[in-house]
Amino acid sequence: MKTLIVEIIEPNRLGELMTASRKFCDQPDIVAIGTGDIPGSYHVAYQTQECIGANLTASLGDLIKTNGYEIVLMSATTLGASIAGPLAILLSASIITEATGITDDSMIERPIYGGKAVARYKADTWPLILTIRRKYFEKDTLNGQTSSIPLPVSAGPVKLVTEKIEKAEGVPLEDAEVIVTGGRGMGGAENFSMLKDMAGYFPKGAVGASRGAVDEGWVSPSLQIGQTGKIVAPSVYFAIGVSGASQHLAGIANAKCVVAINKDEEANIFKRARFGLVCDYKNVIPEIVRALREES
Ligand SMILES: Cc1cc2nc3c(=O)[nH]c(=O)nc-3n(C[C@H](O)[C@H](O)[C@H](O)COP(=O)(O)OP(=O)(O)OC[C@H]3O[C@@H](n4cnc5c(N)ncnc54)[C@H](O)[C@@H]3O)c2cc1C
Repeated sequence: MKTLIVEIIEPNRLGELMTASRKFCDQPDIVAIGTGDIPGSYHVAYQTQECIGANLTASLGDLIKTNGYEIVLMSATTLGASIAGPLAILLSASIITEATGITDDSMIERPIYGGKAVARYKADTWPLILTIRRKYFEKDTLNGQTSSIPLPVSAGPVKLVTEKIEKAEGVPLEDAEVIVTGGRGMGGAENFSMLKDMAGYFPKGAVGASRGAVDEGWVSPSLQIGQTGKIVAPSVYFAIGVSGASQHLAGIANAKCVVAINKDEEANIFKRARFGLVCDYKNVIPEIVRALREES
């Protein structure tokens, strides 16, 4: 099937999309957003520096209609979400968002009911606009580079007035291998420093938070994990003082090993955890940090 990837030039995202595209075609086309070389081997590569979804919709729509793309693939990121919906309306296209799997017979899997079940869909009208969740597809190695032709983009309805770069400390949550998350049970902003210490001992460690902790104003909303936060897939996920509400669990469905520390033995997080400690976190986290320090 004729497939188009639409994504910023970022090897992790492109690698995952390339893998997903193989379920539909041998070699997809791409609209690469950003500057620099485009890693990977695409049939045709278009490039633009326009990164505001609303400004890209019309030109993407024209490109898709002219070339007859049947599948349009992008990551389920803020940018992907801002493009996918308007594009589907413009083209009267099918749309499936936040896919976590594609079967060999092209059934699209996505979680529903806050991650409690997985639904399978099959599109029967084309094009299909498909966004995929990060870290659910293995990264393709993206051999080589593809030279591009510019994508003509006419002035759009949205103007970028100012840009504030958020201070990104350490590893982005989506790429972290070990996440140490604190919930409302942490009891205060100052207690997150011990989680930061702990995460710092892991090569790709990062601190996360539940919405409970974010709502208390203890940490930045950019650390929130869950249905309305980041979707993560670390090898090890520490949930500390987190109750395990379904909306939080929706963000960690693909975490390999969950370790829960909670003083309430009835807390829902223990149903998702491989290892659990029923205790006050203040009694164990300093010990864990001490042990990690001695090991390092
Ligand atoms: C539409 C919608 C979207 C949402 N999206 C998200 C989302 O993206 N992410 C998210 O996280 N939530 C989300 N929520 C909120 C979610 O329902 C919960 O309210 C939230 O996850 C609770 O956060 P918490 O577990 O930190 O807090 P609480 O539910 O208050 O739990 C705190 C836990 O800490 C334990 N605890 C307390 N003190 C200690 C201690 N000293 N040591 C150890 N354990 C202790 C308690 O036993 C308790 O289990 C959403 C809700 C809605 C309605």
